[in-house]
Amino acid sequence: MLVEQIWTGNAYRNFNYLVACPETGDALAIDPLDFRKCLAAAAERGWNITKVLNTHEHGDHTGGNKGIVSATRATVIAHHNAAGRIPGMTEGVGAGDVIRIGKTVELQCLDTPGHTMSHICLLSKTDIPALFSGDTLFNAGAGNCHNGGHPEELFETFEQQLEQLGDDTLIYPGHEYLMNNLAFTLDREPDNSVAQQMIHDYENQDPANALVTTMAQEREINTFFRLRSPGVIARLAEQFPEMGDNPDARAVFLKLRELRNSW
Ligand SMILES: [Zn+2]
Ligand SMILES: [Zn+2]
Repeated sequence: MLVEQIWTGNAYRNFNYLVACPETGDALAIDPLDFRKCLAAAAERGWNITKVLNTHEHGDHTGGNKGIVSATRATVIAHHNAAGRIPGMTEGVGAGDVIRIGKTVELQCLDTPGHTMSHICLLSKTDIPALFSGDTLFNAGAGNCHNGGHPEELFETFEQQLEQLGDDTLIYPGHEYLMNNLAFTLDREPDNSVAQQMIHDYENQDPANALVTTMAQEREINTFFRLRSPGVIARLAEQFPEMGDNPDARAVFLKLRELRNSW
């Protein structure tokens, strides 16, 4: 499986992706907002974009569909419940469906509500375990729930699906928010030495050549996977004594999501 992470350089800091089969050169474009950059990257590598996958219905993920389709006649795949809200959508998918690219790439669809209620993450279980996580999971962070989502559903997605991923799974998110998210992690857990080190190492990174984290790293630096960390709980308990000393993971997640909204 070949993966090209494309930095759009726009104000929303979107990442677009091409995922290609090394044998046939067929490629899937994920959230190809900057369709010109995606088409140029495919042409440069000799890849042929045959499918588009929108992780969800927001315009910063679907806005390039038309440009890709008119240049390639690719099909457009998204969550079946997003039908009618995505320009040019031709195929709906749900949990467990598999998207095949060329001869060698198989991506399993995860139904991951929370950021919106029609959100798909793609999981590759072939040679390189990888998750294309859209706006559900970011490096060191979680998606917001302001535009059609629900924090309770996002918690369930994290707890029941993302937490289950193997430590070596590579994380390919829909936006580049690493520094901001690490700063929030340190606000919640000032003595998190892994997050401190990562801020130090990557504060000047070029988003066009960004760090790709693993699930093992996310478990260390992403507050939304650290719901049982004594440090996270103690700091919340200081600020919100009504939560008590032993809050459950759901209560911790919801409070963190709320704090991140106004942070
Ligand atoms: Zn979104
Ligand atoms: Zn987005």
